[in-house]
Amino acid sequence: MDYEELERELIHLRRDFHAYPESAWLEFRTCSLISRRLEALGYNVKSGLEVIDTASVMGRPSEEVIARNIQRALSQGADPGQLTRLQGYTGLTAELDTGRPGPVVALRFDMDCVEVQEDTSSSHRPEREGFSSVNTGLCHSCGHDAHVSIGLGVAEALMSERERLRGKVRLIFQPGEEGCRGAYAMMMKGVVDDADYFMAMHIGMGVPSGVFVLNAAGWLATAKIDAEFSGVPAHASASPEKGRNALLAACTATLGLHSIAPHSGGNMRINVGTLNAGTGRNVIADHAAMRIETRGETQEVAEYAYSRAVEVLKGSAMMYGVDVDISKAGEGTTSEGSPELVRVAGEAVRELGIFGRVEESSHAGASEDATWFMRRVQSHGGQAVYFGLGSDITAPHHNGRFDVDEAVMIDGVRALAAITERLMS
Ligand SMILES: [Zn+2]
Ligand SMILES: [Zn+2]
Repeated sequence: MDYEELERELIHLRRDFHAYPESAWLEFRTCSLISRRLEALGYNVKSGLEVIDTASVMGRPSEEVIARNIQRALSQGADPGQLTRLQGYTGLTAELDTGRPGPVVALRFDMDCVEVQEDTSSSHRPEREGFSSVNTGLCHSCGHDAHVSIGLGVAEALMSERERLRGKVRLIFQPGEEGCRGAYAMMMKGVVDDADYFMAMHIGMGVPSGVFVLNAAGWLATAKIDAEFSGVPAHASASPEKGRNALLAACTATLGLHSIAPHSGGNMRINVGTLNAGTGRNVIADHAAMRIETRGETQEVAEYAYSRAVEVLKGSAMMYGVDVDISKAGEGTTSEGSPELVRVAGEAVRELGIFGRVEESSHAGASEDATWFMRRVQSHGGQAVYFGLGSDITAPHHNGRFDVDEAVMIDGVRALAAITERLMS
């Protein structure tokens, strides 16, 4: 494998995906181009409804938004044939079957961007070098553009080594990691049901360039909640008693949610991120919509936070005589890296000798829905791990000035390829 040439290719790919960011469940251009490339490499690709359990989908935009984004993807260079195959659902798996008996190794790469405006000043490299986002309000400010490139690089590296491998490798390109939306529906479709090993990796996360983390742990279980209050509109002066005030119910709920008692079993987070309500100054507000999230260090703490949040929402609705519709827009669980896989990965990565430092573990303090895949694989006796690929970054994750150190991508490819080869030889 010519890693110098591959590195140039990865940077080119990453900059292309960076320029055309797509948010959760709308990764149509991204998904179609990945599918085309992996099929051309010789992978067996399944995509769209073949890899998504529609009954388990969370937080997917309306059909109208989907249709509009498919059109945008086409106008921005999506592969029309691959796009049609998706049937409106992003996500794909690409499998290489060596034909020889051996383990099934699954690797997860996420594809979505963040809903944040990219910085347009010349001190921001993507702007200066001409690959900043062309999609208003969307930016690859979590580094998933680098993840996609790394996934494509791993695909090339493993294909070039296929004669030496045994078993199967399955590359999972997941939609909607942001907001923990995409993994659950792929997991429920069974994409890791036969996997003996599962690996995921994130770039950056507070770890500098030159460092590889073997066991990124501390993911908080989370639920993303959408709450819609519906009341009755009325003249605010002539007949306020005839109204039912959804705005007040939502305000009461906001204060109630932020004052739920903490749990002695571990860290807990509750946040009301948005609240939109009302129609006019002199009208009793008949509608309020809230976006909320709850998180917990353990499944028990997370379930406590979620169930108390639901009670607060229902209680607030009852106080004001309005209805509330509560739905889950995303969910993630906790995870633990499998010690044996951490050990094997450590051997492979140290042997490569390309990292200045290899760390045993790190603490995330955020949430990640690859935890669903990890849990499913471990529940049937397989092993799972989440790696951290250190990268100097120019701003925090999810900030419009975020940029990664592109030089670490090739090291990420080499690490994942080396670990996979060790498991499959
Ligand atoms: Zn993120
Ligand atoms: Zn991310």
